[in-house]
Amino acid sequence: MKLKVQKHVKEIKDELIQLSNYIHDNPELGHQEFKASKAHCVLLKKHGFRVEREYLGMKTAFKATYDSKKEGPTIAYLAEYDALPDIGHGCGHNILGATSTGSGIVLSKVIDDIGGKVVVFGTPAEETCGGKVVMVDKGAFDDIDVALMAHPSDKYYKSGGSLAMEAVQFEFFGRTAHAASEPHKGINALDAVIATFNSINALREHIRHDARVHGVIKDGGKAANIVPDYAVAQFYVRATTKSYLIDLVEKVKNCARGAALATGAKANITNYETSYDNLVTNSVLNDLFEQKIKEMGVEHISKLSENFGSLDAGNVSHVCPTIHPYFSISTRELVGHTKEFAKASISTYANEQMCKTIGALVLVAVDVIEDKELFMKIKNEHQEK
Ligand SMILES: [Zn+2]
Ligand SMILES: [Zn+2]
Repeated sequence: MKLKVQKHVKEIKDELIQLSNYIHDNPELGHQEFKASKAHCVLLKKHGFRVEREYLGMKTAFKATYDSKKEGPTIAYLAEYDALPDIGHGCGHNILGATSTGSGIVLSKVIDDIGGKVVVFGTPAEETCGGKVVMVDKGAFDDIDVALMAHPSDKYYKSGGSLAMEAVQFEFFGRTAHAASEPHKGINALDAVIATFNSINALREHIRHDARVHGVIKDGGKAANIVPDYAVAQFYVRATTKSYLIDLVEKVKNCARGAALATGAKANITNYETSYDNLVTNSVLNDLFEQKIKEMGVEHISKLSENFGSLDAGNVSHVCPTIHPYFSISTRELVGHTKEFAKASISTYANEQMCKTIGALVLVAVDVIEDKELFMKIKNEHQEK
């Protein structure tokens, strides 16, 4: 099977590089990835997939299905393709997407013999609004048995955790006044923002070490001689578990409520982006990926350090067994969300590693389809967690 898979990877390698390069050269922000999602769909269609575009009402989402019409599990590969403002594909979602679509195509070439179904999901806006969150909420993953993907990085890492996250916005409404002649008639909305920051900084001393609260002031007034009647701050609040996140968000909100009381401004508290769940890695799948990537010639795959962000794949992992490992796109150290990272994502080295990663992701799926006992183990672990 390994040789068969490698042969199919080789056959579509050029098409995948073309796809990755094209998306790299045409970076599009979340929910505007029209060129990218179309390019994925065209390729999947060419290889015999049934493609549903504008999936679940999201203009740049898609679902591509190949069914062996024989009994067996449904394997999903998750493709991302959104870029970042100014730095383009500094997260490498061009090669991430090509890896998932490539895995889907290669698996489709072998499942007529072994059974099951393969789905490639085009999941928009990972960096901002979390397309997967909406897809999970609308039931896209309800009939998926296993969800697989791999993210580019400088090294190979096993799938780890990610932080649950909530994006909270505090708007404060006060009253303008001349800041020098009649300041006593004004209510300073900016003061409410500053008091919020100060209270959160005090709160920080008493939060768990793996939690994160970080924010910016989006609007702090117009001129120094006018008491600001409107000010806005946006925060990300993150924690390793959803239950702790809920507690922490409430405390952060209380900082803003207290600031409103202290200044007399009115607070309006909303979520400005979708919330992400923490990633629960399926350990059976994770070990299987390690074994397969080594079979593909990768010598070492590291354990993920504690230093992680938030992923919308987290929400998927609460619905079906999921892994989100990392593959190397550079022999040198790389920092995510940089221009250097974007450049590395189209290197010859990166493309070689993409091929190995596709091989491993397909072989994982083949084992899941063929080995019923293994499949049950994966399912059982998911249910227990
Ligand atoms: Zn990113
Ligand atoms: Zn990313």
